[in-house]
Amino acid sequence: MNKFIDDLIHLKVYLVGRCTKCNHYNESMVHDYGRLTHLQLEDEMDRTNHSIRPISCNKCGTEYKPQQFLYRDVVRNSEVAKVNIDYSNIIDAEKSAAMQEGHDDRFKIYQSREQEFWAAYTEYALENWKSAVGELMRQEIEVGFSALGKKTTFKSDLHARREALQKIDASDRRSFWIAANQEFIVGELLDLGVLGWVPIEFAKRYGAARTRFGIMYFPVAEALEDLRTKYIGLLFKRERGDNAFLLRRIGQLTDAAQKQTMQLNKLLRQADEQKHTIAGLQDKLGVANAKLEQEASHQPITERSKDDIRRIRELKSFIGELIAEIRHLRPEEADEVPETPELVEANAELPEISESDVSVLTGKTVAIIGGHRNRKGSGGYPCDIIAHDGRKHAPDFYSTLQRADVIVVLTRFISHASMWEAKAFAAQNDKPIWFIQEINIGSILNIVAQEGR
Ligand SMILES: [Zn+2]
Repeated sequence: MNKFIDDLIHLKVYLVGRCTKCNHYNESMVHDYGRLTHLQLEDEMDRTNHSIRPISCNKCGTEYKPQQFLYRDVVRNSEVAKVNIDYSNIIDAEKSAAMQEGHDDRFKIYQSREQEFWAAYTEYALENWKSAVGELMRQEIEVGFSALGKKTTFKSDLHARREALQKIDASDRRSFWIAANQEFIVGELLDLGVLGWVPIEFAKRYGAARTRFGIMYFPVAEALEDLRTKYIGLLFKRERGDNAFLLRRIGQLTDAAQKQTMQLNKLLRQADEQKHTIAGLQDKLGVANAKLEQEASHQPITERSKDDIRRIRELKSFIGELIAEIRHLRPEEADEVPETPELVEANAELPEISESDVSVLTGKTVAIIGGHRNRKGSGGYPCDIIAHDGRKHAPDFYSTLQRADVIVVLTRFISHASMWEAKAFAAQNDKPIWFIQEINIGSILNIVAQEGR
């Protein structure tokens, strides 16, 4: 029995973890069970599911994924358990469909591996005959005897076990064991299927040792292996002594499968941290760019002092370093950017082009980043239009920027990464750059021509 059985416990549950930006440790309470007895608490825990949500940093305000659940007993001011959060446990639809399929196929799967399983299971029982029989119930033993052609009735489990140990010849043990275990193996493990298994209840009814064997070795579909692993974790958790029942409930999150997923969690956190590092560098890059633009607009080029020229050179090289650092940190694949739109070509019926004087663009090349063109060279523009979707920073992305006299970035359809690449390129190469929402080429040229004067 539990020695704390009459004591009250007041459990509070927190999401905790270090901030991915500033590394500050934060706690956020998600549940308060109130003052309860252990038994009440166990009941409550059975009924309660804690959801995982981002927590925000008290120090820097960043929202990030918590690393652990913390269970704290307020009465004793002690930590009952800290449980790592398994983000891979959030089962996707595909996986749950595969699990259901495995469940539906369980009779076929069992049939195909039935003999192997029973061979191993009887082997285990024969090697541990006394303790194996010690877990059988009276009815099971009667079924076993009747399979050997012997009609029996026993007064109790104990009586039945004693008789079985004394009266079953070694040569009959195999058949006896198989018959006696039909209820557990076929009636429970097979009929319920992994999705319906109740390992703790099995262990109470059928005994810990054969429950463990059954749970570990019963043939199941591949898609259900994770769940099996979880059950094994539950069974082993149970053996920890007094507070086992608490740990068992909490342990529903702490199975062996977690070990494999720690790596994934680490990667998720690293990705978060990188995002923050990149954001920080982009902030710096923004400041550098703003300064550079300020410098450039302050004075006509002819009057730039040697000092200004040196500072501009320094800033450009600073931008170069920042952008290199950002590229280095950025994950391989592009950001979640939607399909780029097809640019709307100017059209004789829609005389946008004639509304303002776009002749200032004559002979120039305008690169539009964040869109694509269906046709080439149509529309009778005074300038060359080249388009790039900006999704991958392949050489043609840079060569598009290189060829441009004027760079236009369609801010709605381009990732931050691409925007910064374009902005940095423009700053380093003294090319004018525009950030525009339109996708109509005529309108784009109007804006560039009007504001560029
Ligand atoms: Zn923080």
